[in-house]
Amino acid sequence: MRQKLVVGNWKLHGGLLENQGLLNRLKQELHDLQGMDAAVCLPYVYLFQAQALLQDSAIAWGAQNVSQYTEGAFTSCISAKMVAEFGCTYTIIGHSERRALKLESNQVATKRMLNALHAGLTPIFCVGETLDERDGDMAELIVRNQMLNVVYGLDDEAFALAKKFNMVIAYEPVWAIGTGEHASPDQAQRMHAFIRMMIAERDREFADQIRIVYGGSMTPQNAHSLLSMPDIDGGLLGRAALVAEDFIEICKIAS
Ligand code: 13P
Repeated sequence: MRQKLVVGNWKLHGGLLENQGLLNRLKQELHDLQGMDAAVCLPYVYLFQAQALLQDSAIAWGAQNVSQYTEGAFTSCISAKMVAEFGCTYTIIGHSERRALKLESNQVATKRMLNALHAGLTPIFCVGETLDERDGDMAELIVRNQMLNVVYGLDDEAFALAKKFNMVIAYEPVWAIGTGEHASPDQAQRMHAFIRMMIAERDREFADQIRIVYGGSMTPQNAHSLLSMPDIDGGLLGRAALVAEDFIEICKIAS
């Protein structure tokens, strides 16, 4: 039985004062949640604040990316090892907003994921098609391509780390992100089952265990129908993660 996971992706939002209010509220209201995992992924500069406020709470925290490099003359890059020092459990990798800015190819995303695993972090690896790709009946092909490096690009040692640190896959159809138009539970379920089947090509046991979460306009109103699908193991929330009531409500639905 896979325990549900709800992760807030704060994107480019936050400020010391607002964060303090939001994080304290989540900490108070989610302290006795059972049977699910909750986390927030904040901008790097607030990781120290999350560590200070959440370290004795039920909520984990993480970064929104890590560098494909480990060390050296790479101005502005932040390594997996650095964010791990701030107590992160998770890091998002390969978000479509990064892919759209052409900052992330599948290869670079895979390199970032490897660095995350070597630093003991749990990568949340994002995949998903654009509207044109879905309309062109290419959604599965695109997601398959994005998943190929995860399924076949990791050597045995890296794959063992992915299992050890419970790598997560996030299916985030690009057309559903920030639009208010979420994938229907059936659409999302079909893709989640497809992703799980791909992982089973490499490791059947891990395919049963890995959490595949859905992201794209998830709200307290649609969370129940999405999260009751058999292969949807949680949510990656954008806007709903910035509103305490919404995040708390979705965590309660998941528990
Ligand atoms: P929204 O929930 O705002 O659609 O964003 C989803 C997302 O991109 C999470 O990573």
